[in-house]
Amino acid sequence: MDKIVNKRIYLSPPHLGGKESIYIQEALDSNWIAPVGENVDRFQADLEAFLGDGVRVAALSSGTAALHLALVVLGIKAGDEVLCQSFTFSASVNPILYLQAFPVLIGSEPETWNMCPVELERAIKDRIGKGKLPKAVILVDLYGMPCKMDELLAVAARYNIPVIEDAAESLGSEFNGKHCGTFGEVAILSFNGNKIITCSSGGAIVSHNREYIEQTGFYAGQAKDPAPFYKHSKVGYNYQLSNILAGIGRGQMSVLNEHIAAKREINAFYRSELSAIDGISFHTEPDSRYFSNYWLSAMLLDHTKIKKTPLQICETMSSLYNIECRLLWNPMHLQPVFKDVPYYGTGVSERLFTSGLCLPSGSNLSREDLHRVVTALKKIIASKS
Ligand SMILES: *Cc1c(COP(=O)(O)O)cnc(C)c1O
Repeated sequence: MDKIVNKRIYLSPPHLGGKESIYIQEALDSNWIAPVGENVDRFQADLEAFLGDGVRVAALSSGTAALHLALVVLGIKAGDEVLCQSFTFSASVNPILYLQAFPVLIGSEPETWNMCPVELERAIKDRIGKGKLPKAVILVDLYGMPCKMDELLAVAARYNIPVIEDAAESLGSEFNGKHCGTFGEVAILSFNGNKIITCSSGGAIVSHNREYIEQTGFYAGQAKDPAPFYKHSKVGYNYQLSNILAGIGRGQMSVLNEHIAAKREINAFYRSELSAIDGISFHTEPDSRYFSNYWLSAMLLDHTKIKKTPLQICETMSSLYNIECRLLWNPMHLQPVFKDVPYYGTGVSERLFTSGLCLPSGSNLSREDLHRVVTALKKIIASKS
């Protein structure tokens, strides 16, 4: 086959709405270029209005910083155990280690691909049996799909374990009519370059608890005690969001609903074009309580019916068609850095990793781009070589 020279289609590139430059310019003109100012205040207020349910938001420099401070405000200390979904991005787990706490990894269930409630309870009982009640559980809504929120929250509540919701990928998703990012004691969001909206880099903590939001501001600004001189009684962090970057976020909030609609349309298009192929199935909302922003459209390939591996497809899509696809997350319990971490699972996340593929899902993809993706994919799957 000849190499097709065409502009590269990326997995999930930034998608500007137009207002970003106005808010950046306002920050420059007013000289509010520090990590405080109107853009930060308005971005937080816009997120609060979008999420509803009376939550408060503290904007931060990244989603990873937000997870770190979520653990700090929940009082996680060296030696504590924290439960976390194994099938996720490493940034869900790393902050546990920043605090010298111990991660315990939990497997997925096959419906939402997120944490399995049965495995969660099995892990909690086993850890208690070993003499340690876990101090927090980090739930993740991967690729925008809400986890089995009601069941997972019920398990955590039964043992009085506080919940952190990692909603980095699920801004705009809902479970039972309630926004992802509003569940648990504390939730976190990410505005990294590839997320559904971006600040270039940024994140946030969301909580119903005002105290957690105030503490987040305190820790993110170097933990300065109220005093007429520099006084510190706690370890602080430099995690505030720049007022310039918040200007990008503010602009992005005005197009968030359009991005959600576009991502859901992209997902519907892939389904309609590809579901008929024997051996392809999609990451799907299990029932009407689930509403996914479909941040990334992901599918599974049955290896008994499709003879190419996801890696082979991914590499050919890139080298021959200039289209970026990506394998699913490689579970954390399989990572060299977490090899000694306890894991409770039944093989679901491993199977997802070996059989899954994420398709280009940028909210700015054109119809033409989408046709290019499905045409290329169909050719690769049908080809004998
Ligand atoms: C992106 C992401 C993070 C980290 O957010 P950053 O803003 O990149 O630090 C955490 N968890 C998940 C699931 C993510 O996808």
